[in-house]
Formats: sequence, C-alpha cells, structure tokens
Amino acid sequence: MENKEQGIAAPGSRMANTGATPVLASFLEHLVKNQVITKDQAIQATEWKRQNETDKRPLLEVLKDEFGVSADQLGQHVAQYYAFRTIEPRERHVRRLLVADAGKILRALPDATLQLVIKHKLLPFDLAENQPDKLVLITPNPADREIHELARVFPYKKFEICYMRESDWSDYLQKVLAEREKTTAEPVVVPPDEAVESDFESLMEREVARAQLHAQLGAVLEDAIRGGATEIHVAPRAARKTEILFRIEGRLAVWHTIDNARCEAVLYALKGLGASMDRFERLAAQQGVIMRSLNNRTLRFTVSILPLHAREQGVRAESAVIHVMREAEGIPPLDRLGMDDHTLSILNDSLASMRGLIVAAGPARSGKTTTIASALRSLIKPTLNIVTVEEPVEFLLDGVRQVKLNPRLGFLDAIDLLTDHDPDVVMLGEIRSPEVANIALRLANIGHLVLSTIAARDATSAVMKLIDMTHSPLLVGEGVRAVLAQQAVRLVCDRCKKPLSVSATQQALGRLRFELPDGERTPQLFRAAGCIDCLAGYRGHELLFEAFSASPAIREIIAGAAERIDYRTLSAALHSEGLVSLRQKALDMVCRGVTSVDELLPFVV
Ligand SMILES: [Zn+2]
Repeated sequence: MENKEQGIAAPGSRMANTGATPVLASFLEHLVKNQVITKDQAIQATEWKRQNETDKRPLLEVLKDEFGVSADQLGQHVAQYYAFRTIEPRERHVRRLLVADAGKILRALPDATLQLVIKHKLLPFDLAENQPDKLVLITPNPADREIHELARVFPYKKFEICYMRESDWSDYLQKVLAEREKTTAEPVVVPPDEAVESDFESLMEREVARAQLHAQLGAVLEDAIRGGATEIHVAPRAARKTEILFRIEGRLAVWHTIDNARCEAVLYALKGLGASMDRFERLAAQQGVIMRSLNNRTLRFTVSILPLHAREQGVRAESAVIHVMREAEGIPPLDRLGMDDHTLSILNDSLASMRGLIVAAGPARSGKTTTIASALRSLIKPTLNIVTVEEPVEFLLDGVRQVKLNPRLGFLDAIDLLTDHDPDVVMLGEIRSPEVANIALRLANIGHLVLSTIAARDATSAVMKLIDMTHSPLLVGEGVRAVLAQQAVRLVCDRCKKPLSVSATQQALGRLRFELPDGERTPQLFRAAGCIDCLAGYRGHELLFEAFSASPAIREIIAGAAERIDYRTLSAALHSEGLVSLRQKALDMVCRGVTSVDELLPFVV
C-alpha cells in the first residue's frame, strides 16, 4: 500500500506507476488552481511528506487528516483530474441495473470478498450503455489503487470506475445491502475502516474470486464422490500450477490441474472451505473437516495439510491430502464384500464370540478398513458400548462413539481414558507401531473385542508382524482371535489380453514356483496389453480373502514360537486347518486366464 499517491491510476490503465514526483506536484497544482488548497498549503504538504517518510499514508489522506481538506472536495478533484466520470445519483437517467440487481451481484460474492469490496468502498451501479458486459462501479475514493484489482471480482469482462460523493455512496450502500439481505439470513458486518488487514489476505481473496477457486474446489470434491475416490491430493507443481490427484481403486492419478491461480491461493481457498483451519497459517501442519451437501446427502472430508520446502524464495508451499469420509450407508454389509463362505463364517463366528483381537491384513488400500468398518457395523446395537480410536476417521457410524484425536488428545492418552469407559468393542486404527500392537492385544486379553487392521501381505505375515512388534509370542497367541487377509487382484481386459507362448508360460510358472499336477494340461496364461476399453490392460478387480480363527493347535504354535516364528511352519499348520491361501487363489485366477502373471508377483514369497 505504500506510495499510493504515485500509483493513482488513470481509468483503464492497470496501476500505472510512473513519474511519481511530477504527478504528485501537478495534482497539488491542480488543487491550488481550483482553490481547494492555497499555494502555501501545497508547499507545506510536500514538505510534510518529505519529513514524515515513514508515514505510509497516501497524500490524499495526509491532506484530509493533517490539513483539514474535505474528503468530498478531494474525491471530486481526483475524479476530475484523472478523468473519472462523476455520477450524481439525483440526475435522472435510464438505469440498466436496478438496486435489486446490484444486491444480487453482491449476494454472489463470498463473504470475505464482499467485506473487502465494501471496505474499499466499491459498489456495482449500472451497466454501460450498449455494453452489457461492462459494469459501472462507483466509489468515493477513485485514487485507491486497490479498487482496480478488486473490480475484477465481479463477473463482468470490462468495468468502468466512476466517482460518487461519499454521502451519496453511503446512502446507496444501505439500499443495496437491504436488497442483498432480502434473501440472505446473515447480515453483513461492515468492517471498520481502521481494520488493518494484511496484503496477503487481500491478494489471496482477489485471486480466489478471480479464478473462482471455491467453485473449482467444490466441483473437485463432488467429482471425487461420483468417481469413487478415497483420497484427493492437492499438490503444488509450479508457482501457478496445482495438480489435483484422485485415488481410485487404490491408484493415484491426476484428475484436474488448476493453472489459473497461484498454489498459495488454492490452499488458501481450500482452508476457507473447511472448519478449524487457519487460512493465514502456512508453516504448521493442520487438520480440518469440510462438509458439503450433494443431492440431499452430506459429504464429509477430512483435510490434512503439510508445509513443504519450496524452491522459489519467498513462496510457502503446502500440500494437502483430503480423505473422503464415507457414511455408514456406504459400507457394504459383510456378506456383500465378496468374501468366500469359509472366510465369512470364520469372521462371523469370531465376532459372535465377543472377545479377542480380530485383525484384517492387506497391503495399503486393499479394502481392509472397509472390511473392519463393515464388521463393526454388523455389531451395532443400543446395548453394546462400541468405541473407535483412529486417525483419520474414515467412516462415520451412528451408534458408535468415535473418539476424535487432535493435537491435545493423542492416541495413547485416548486409550488410557478408554478403559474408564469400559467398552465392549474397541476399534483401533491401523496397527502401525509396537505401542498400538501391545494395546490391542492387552485389551483383547482382558476380555474386550478388538478390531483393527495391519499392513501385511497375508494372514501368516500378519501374525509374524505382531510378534516382531511386541516381542511376545505368548501375548499374540493368547490375544488373537482371528486373522483375515485380503488383496485386490486386477482383472485382465478380455478385449486386449495377449496369450503367452508355451515357453513363456513355462518360464512364468517356474517363476511363480507353481508345479502342475501330473497329467494336467498346461494352462493358457495371458499378459496385459491395453486398449481404449481398459486402463493399461486391466478392467475392474476381484477381492481375494483368506482367514483363520485361532484354534488351540494354532495358539500353541504361535505362543510356543521363539522371538521369530517360522513362516513355513505356521503357514503349513493353517493350511492343514483348511486355509486356502491368497497365493493359491490368485494362481487359480491366472490359470483361468482372468488375470495376468504380473498381478501375481506380490504373492511370490
Ligand atoms: Zn483392453
């Protein structure tokens, strides 16, 4: 805002900032010539500015405050000098824009932008004659250089800024606000003139309004729901390029690019959409919640923002990940998750026992959280005390007490308090650390039913991981009630899949360590290719499950293990109790020609 007097812009020019001193002097001369001030006052004012260099008030303000020149007189002469048209509200002329229309235009602005517009005393007044795309705006301060930028928040291609006397402008403002409020419940709080506001805020507000960032981000959130995305990533790529990526079916891909606004403005707008986020905080990690309604449904998103290192000096970059929270209605019942009968009966029996740890294993985004949420949902009844502790909250469940973790309530503190609430069922977010593993198993061992997830390739690996974390095979053997593992296997596209030659097939089978039973014909295997009907050779996926419940024999093997359990021993024992492994199921899929050999590589032990 400094040197405002240098930048008094002529109409149509954008903040021309040249020839400071001559302009200043000649404007003072103009005032002298028109007997607004005396020659002595002009010299004194120039002298005053020179002696008070640190005072950043523009010359006009100084003339008003220090030399008692009337605001109306000054405004009128600024308009005259810089050839701003003056509008006299009492003049009778045809108006193309009614006060009601102006009210409507203001109604379309976000509140923060509206406050900024009013603070800088800018209002829509009329449309130019024969130019319906040109908005005539009025202000008593045509010298305010901010207003030329601010005029761009209105949805018109061109604009003309005109001068109106302060008292007339204020009368008009009251009328327009009254119109605006006819259909909006909240009255506008007109910010006091002395409100100090950072340059950052006004810059961001303008950018957000100009690039319609709220609308763009709103559309992104709705697209995410429609497209079945579980996560939205907001990633700054260059000063004015922000990529929006969606995670759909576990895979991240660019969905949209915002290249008409600075990255900071995109993040600023995003924080403005949600609750409990500070738009001006750019150095700390932040979390918040965004709620929107779509087709009478309330959509909920949790936002997590992290500051980033930026290559450009002075730029504070941030990245955001938005989790799409699903409503209970979005969680399929257990028998609709695609589980085989064996897995389903193990899970149902274990849940019915109401004690011990049930853990769903799988790689990231295999759907294990959905499985646990579905299991939890099947338990909900008023007589049962069910508590969840997770971060972030991925599902909202009625009838369940969902603890909200925050910087002042950490996971371990929440668990401490949990036992006081004596829950029947506890759902913990993913078991990622030894602390959580110990807590989950201890709660299970004192008679609670505990549900959780763990990142592991299969059921056997999940048990090994629990032992690795707790160093206590006994604790694991006693605490675990059932382990379920799942994995999504993509289906190869029927239209473009390519058959493997006999030698390639034999090589592939060898690589998968698959031995054909005697007399069995060599199956026809396929590899993925890619066509317009599919995504890189794949269309859709099938979920595979394996599960076991801890029988006395299995408990004994686990509890009796040394610090590390032998994968093959445990795996063989589970197999003898009827577990059909994920690997075996995936191999069957390959041999049936419904998936490619490459999809099996994660199962090769
Ligand atoms: Zn295809």
